[in-house]
Amino acid sequence: MSRAFGGPGKYIQERGAIARLGDFLSAWGGKSLILIDRAVFDRLSAAVAGIPDLQILAFGGECSAAEIARIVAQIRETGASTVIGAGGGKAIDTAKIAALETGARIVILPTIASTDAPCSAVAVRYSETGVFEESLRLSRNPDLVLVDTEIVAAAPVRFLIAGIGDALSTWFEARSNIDSRTNNYVAGGFPPTQVGIAVARRCHDILMEEAPKAVAAARAGRITAALEQIIEANILMSGLGFENCGCSAAHGIHDGLTVLPQTHGLLHGEKVAFGTLCLLMLENRATEEIAAMIRFCRSLGLPVTLAELGLEEVTTEEITRVAGAALAPGQCTWATPVALSVESLRDAIFALDAFAREVL
Ligand SMILES: [Zn+2]
Repeated sequence: MSRAFGGPGKYIQERGAIARLGDFLSAWGGKSLILIDRAVFDRLSAAVAGIPDLQILAFGGECSAAEIARIVAQIRETGASTVIGAGGGKAIDTAKIAALETGARIVILPTIASTDAPCSAVAVRYSETGVFEESLRLSRNPDLVLVDTEIVAAAPVRFLIAGIGDALSTWFEARSNIDSRTNNYVAGGFPPTQVGIAVARRCHDILMEEAPKAVAAARAGRITAALEQIIEANILMSGLGFENCGCSAAHGIHDGLTVLPQTHGLLHGEKVAFGTLCLLMLENRATEEIAAMIRFCRSLGLPVTLAELGLEEVTTEEITRVAGAALAPGQCTWATPVALSVESLRDAIFALDAFAREVL
């Protein structure tokens, strides 16, 4: 059987990794442009200030068509041959798409471990107001992913926990794709490699083993072996896992939830964690598995009920719209190995909510 694997050219994770950026850029030569998230703009622009031929730009805040066009214009104007995306998932995805459009090298400097965006050749575009528009499959992965553990550990712990929520989907969505024999996101779509499946499974085991210790360390502002394990799971393993094995209803429900403005204050991984629990209900997985994952999410403060998503007043009509959006043509929800309909998806979401309240 055919198979394919994709990933970033290099992945480096260490304290102070940002100091290596200049060495890579000077080895490659040419001009560079760094797009920096506003939340970390002062710290990062100071850290890269001495690097020659590097233009510094502040990210506008949304990975939208207008913002991508603005960055593409800047890249063309400066003649940059390397684009660095520094920040959270949206800044990273904007940099990836803009670099691809201009043929530039891609470097990713995640400043939070909140999503599996950094390593992948997948980018998500939103409207100006934050509504999911399109998941793009890019022709290249980042050339380099530099994870500075000190910067990641200095970010609010909520981001790390959201990253655990995003990474929690990786194995369960991989399992959906394996069961439904759906192709992955590599080079137009192939069955997964053994490596891809092993990484997705290992990601899950690391989360179960290390997450409580890692979150405690992050809360105390300390970098420990457990925190390093979780950062690798959130960024590298989850990224390789989803790209090489595929997403299913956990991310589909996340995308669907973005049609409800009440959920816009939540982070990607927080909604994905809830979507993961709904996926397990939709697939009718073992009672103990679903209950264990509800307890795991609750122990970290990830949302496990509609009320915790800010949807305490939600109507059947609204969740029907969420389910409809999650089942739009081309949505990854279709990789879920069960008979799918708007009704079955809607009812799984409500049922998970009810079950979670019983478990707790
Ligand atoms: Zn995700």
